[in-house]
Amino acid sequence: MKNKFLNIGVLLLIIFGAGWQIAATARQSITIERDDVVFDFPNEINFTLEAASSVPIERVELEYGLDVNSCATDTTRVVPDDVEPAEQISVTWTWNMRRSGSLPPGSRMWYRWRLTDANGETFISEQTWLTWLDDIHDWQTISNDNLFLHWYQGDADFAQALLDAGVESQARIERDIGAEQTKDVHLYIYGTTDELRDAILFEPGWTGGLAYSNSNIVLIGVSESNLEWGLDTVAHELAHVIIGNSFDSCYASVPTWLNEGLAVYAEGPLNAGSANVLQDAIDEDNLYSVPALSEGFSEHPGRAQVSYAQSYSMTAYLIDTYGQDKMRELLRQFDEGYRYEAALENTYGFTVAEFEAAWRASKGLAPIAVPTEAAVEPTVYPTFAPYGGQTVAAATVTPIPTSQPLPTPPGGGEAPETTSGASDLFDWQSLLSGFPLIVLLCTCLFTLTVIIAIPVVLFFMGSRRKSNPADNGDPIDVE
Ligand SMILES: [Zn+2]
Repeated sequence: MKNKFLNIGVLLLIIFGAGWQIAATARQSITIERDDVVFDFPNEINFTLEAASSVPIERVELEYGLDVNSCATDTTRVVPDDVEPAEQISVTWTWNMRRSGSLPPGSRMWYRWRLTDANGETFISEQTWLTWLDDIHDWQTISNDNLFLHWYQGDADFAQALLDAGVESQARIERDIGAEQTKDVHLYIYGTTDELRDAILFEPGWTGGLAYSNSNIVLIGVSESNLEWGLDTVAHELAHVIIGNSFDSCYASVPTWLNEGLAVYAEGPLNAGSANVLQDAIDEDNLYSVPALSEGFSEHPGRAQVSYAQSYSMTAYLIDTYGQDKMRELLRQFDEGYRYEAALENTYGFTVAEFEAAWRASKGLAPIAVPTEAAVEPTVYPTFAPYGGQTVAAATVTPIPTSQPLPTPPGGGEAPETTSGASDLFDWQSLLSGFPLIVLLCTCLFTLTVIIAIPVVLFFMGSRRKSNPADNGDPIDVE
């Protein structure tokens, strides 16, 4: 079934346009004369409020939040500028996505106004829900049960093939991993990765797919010419959302190799290109250690491909050898807050090193004796919080495979080593990578200071005591 979706031009919501009143503990009332929200996708949302009161309104605040699967309440409160106390007020506030970091299209959000008058009475408007819609493209929608696919470029067969890939992924995840999709998930299929980046205000990079498991949204840039990649990516990103939703706990922390391994597993058998890359890495014993794959993946496309393929292989080894029930138990361990070392041991009875040795043995390799170069190579997981400043979920990013042309960054050259989803975000990765050096420098400086300071302090104490005849201390002791 197909229907028209999001063909709305500029969205203008006149909410309670006829005016509404808020009872003020039976003494006063405030009349809202205008309450508008205008979307300018993908840049900003403009909120406008006009209100009247018999008592001057002294303070106006806008509260808003997002519909995300989050443990924390994510209410943000802003105070619009230039509101003078008056009986008649007109207020606007703009949510600038370029400054805050963008929301994925399809995000659900709410807002309400909080007004305080000169008597100290507070009035709160009804909570109103909105959907951050991408009205740039002429979207169509097809669905299957609780999976919705929105697309605007390509024919119906193209869209149906992508939706079918999602349905197959759902079934595979439920059958082999034991995680079930219980909530609606929306897949937005952009015609190109450039158009996807434009929608979420991305920097150029090699991102091809984004999974927002907290808001049940997947964004992919794929055209009919790279449908095969699109089918895998739909399955992959959907798996991230479903598995992310399978945890009740806010603190479940799944190692990267398992998170990505499960997502690649959901794609079906490893594709020939990745299988060859993995076999080459096995033949050369140029694999990553399990600890190295637990924190993050290299963003260099070539090495990232090894990371994904190896993670798939390790995950498939667990599922094929020990079965679905054990995998379900492993995920339950994460849900209970165990770290992956303990979760592995509690579930399978082996340590990380024993697991690694067993998996390597299954590939005809001896246990790792000393860390290989690949094992100690620092890795950076291409996951980031795309909404700086807003309390919402991070996205899981999937690279465009090396079989696709890589986007050229400004000025040419290779694709950047570090994908940046939002350039205004604080660069934690740089800080963390520089952390040991900083600590070392600080320690050295502190030690030097102490070494120099002690004789100086002792010298001055001695001088003071010796020069002060009233001091009862024994100057000889000081010396
Ligand atoms: Zn992934």
